[in-house]
Order: sequence, then structure tokens, then C-alpha cells
Amino acid sequence: MTDTKRRVEACLRPEVAALKAYAVPNAAGMIKLDAMENPFAWPGELPAPLVNEWLAALRAAELNRYPDPQAAALKERLRETLGIPRDAGILLGNGSDELIQIALLALAKPGASVLAPTPTFVMYEILATAVGMRFIGVPLTADFHLDLPRMLETIAHERPAVIFLAYPNNPTGNLFDVQAIEAIVRAASGLVIIDEAYAVFAEESFLPRLREFGQVLVMRTVSKQGLAGLRLGLLAGDPLWLEQFDKLRLPYNVNTLTQVSVEFALRHNDALLEQASQIRAERERVFAALAAVPGVRVWPSRANFILFRLSRAAGGVFAALKRRGVLIKNLDHAHPMLEGCLRVTVGKPAENDAFLAALAAALNE
Ligand SMILES: *Cc1c(COP(=O)(O)O)cnc(C)c1O
Repeated sequence: MTDTKRRVEACLRPEVAALKAYAVPNAAGMIKLDAMENPFAWPGELPAPLVNEWLAALRAAELNRYPDPQAAALKERLRETLGIPRDAGILLGNGSDELIQIALLALAKPGASVLAPTPTFVMYEILATAVGMRFIGVPLTADFHLDLPRMLETIAHERPAVIFLAYPNNPTGNLFDVQAIEAIVRAASGLVIIDEAYAVFAEESFLPRLREFGQVLVMRTVSKQGLAGLRLGLLAGDPLWLEQFDKLRLPYNVNTLTQVSVEFALRHNDALLEQASQIRAERERVFAALAAVPGVRVWPSRANFILFRLSRAAGGVFAALKRRGVLIKNLDHAHPMLEGCLRVTVGKPAENDAFLAALAAALNE
């Protein structure tokens, strides 16, 4: 045992040893509002004819064969459904997390850096570190807007190989100012990845503008809109980037069941869009309810989650919610700017009511 420990320590890259594993808490039996999942069960809450149609598609899949390495049918469906311009390339990943990893692997020249405004999605930093790139976080303003002068200054000084802009941003939920993004894109020395994981909730996108900017790739995922279990993300943009990244993609990274299921789901995209619209309406209701709670500061959201700050110990309130069977996300120690902050995913009306009731009870403890 001790011998193995010594051996691991001797072999392991120090930056990997310094990483903390991405922690996913056990949510068994809880009202789960921690991970921006869609609350509508798939296939549990699909209409029976759709379940049958989906199962028929799965039955026709040949699982003894390798998947279509180019996922041609699925790409065509995505292009049509999302309105990806004809001349833009598409690269598919096993979730958008994998696409971040592929892009960084391709750009990790010695000394190359990754820049993002912070706080933001943690995988940019985790994966930058994993591939040996330097991560540069530029703090957002106190209200979580882009600090444009500081962004531009840092871009000029550091010349990062890639800039990540989550649009809307996670965990703050807001859309950054379009003109500020344009200024960053113009100033960028390398690639800019606009991460639109929450596009169906924001109803704003840079996808239609891809032709204007050869230095921009737009990233999407089906995770937050209802299919997190399938793991499918995409990067769209100039094929000159994507052809190179494609060399690092493992040949069969998007499995057959995912290709068939997402293709099926997109043929019935109306149902998913209808769910997104219900979630947007619930988001506004939960926002108003939170804003009315004394001692709570809440930020408007364009995603399917809401960030709020408590004037008293957030860790204790998070734990009290958990005791009452409601799991949300504690961000209290995630970043200095998130002190006292918790993040709740918007669920179904009854789940949101349970959260609001549990919060009221926890604050009265
Ligand atoms: C959740 C999230 C992702 C991860 O998406 P997957 O496709 O599930 O890997 C990417 N970017 C942001 C900003 C997210 O919040």
C-alpha cells in the first residue's frame, strides 16, 4: 500500500495531484435542484406513442457495429433544428465537457493560456490545468458583468490561445453585454468559444452570426434542455478549427444509442421547447418569490437556475434545506465573489414550491 502510494506520487503530474475530483453529491430520495437538469422525466413523462416510436428506433440500432464515426444523420438534424449555417462545421462531443477538453488538447502549446471571466463554469479551469495550460480568471464586476477594460488589458498582455465566454454564464445566470463580447472577440489573439449551454432558456445566440467571426466557435449541449443522460455537445464554426480538433476526437465518442435518441428527440423538438418555456415561466415565478424573502439578494437569470445570496451563513441554510429533502448547490466557498451564495435549479412547480417552503422554514430555524 505505502509502496503504491510512493509510486503514484513519483509518477503523477503535480498539477493532477493538486486537482480535486469533480464532486457529485448523492441525491437519492431528494428533490434534486442542484445540477440544472430538466425536471421532466425522459422517457417516463413522454406520451406513450412517442415512447413507442423511440423504442422502435432503438430496436433498429445495430449495437454489434461501431457507431457512425461522423454521426452524419444526427449532424444534419442538428444543423436543421438549431439553424447552424450551411458553411459552418460541426464537431460532436460526449457532452460539451469533452469538446472543451478536445479544444484545449489541440491548443496546449507550451506556455499557452486560457482566459475566462470568473466566476464561471469550473470545467474551463479544471481542463486547462489537466492539459498543462495556464488558466487566467478575470473577475466579473460585483454585479457579475464583464469588466471590459480589464478583459481587454489582460487579452493584450497575455494573448490567450482561447477565451471562454459562457452565455448565459454559470453560476451567475446572466447574459453578458453583446457589445462587450464583440469587443472581446475583436481583441482576441486566438480562439473565442461562446458556450451556449442554456440557449433554450436565454433565447439569445451567436449561432446565426458565426459567419461574421472566424475566431468564434459556438458550443451547445442537449444536457440542460432535457437529455443530460445522453451526453451530447457540439461545437459549430469555421471548419479550419474543427478539422484540426477532429484529429484528437476519439473515433467513436458519440455512441449509437445517443445518436439514435438525440436524432429522435430533435424530430420532436417542439416537446422539448415547450418544456423550456414552462421552465422559463417558473424561473420568473421563483425569482419573484426569492426577491420577496427578507435577507435574500437574488440575481435575474436567463438560464434554468437562479443564484441568490443570503445575509446569514449560507452553509447552514444549505444543510437545513438538505435535511428537508431539497438538494441545491452551495457556492459559498466556490469563489470569493460567491460568498454566501447558493444556486437553485428551476424544477417543476411543485418542486419549486417545496424549495421555497423549505427555504422559508430554514431561515426561521
Ligand atoms: C452544464 C454546463 C456545461 C456542460 O455540458 P455537458 O454537455 O453536459 O458536458 C457546459 N457549459 C456550461 C456553461 C454549463 O453550465
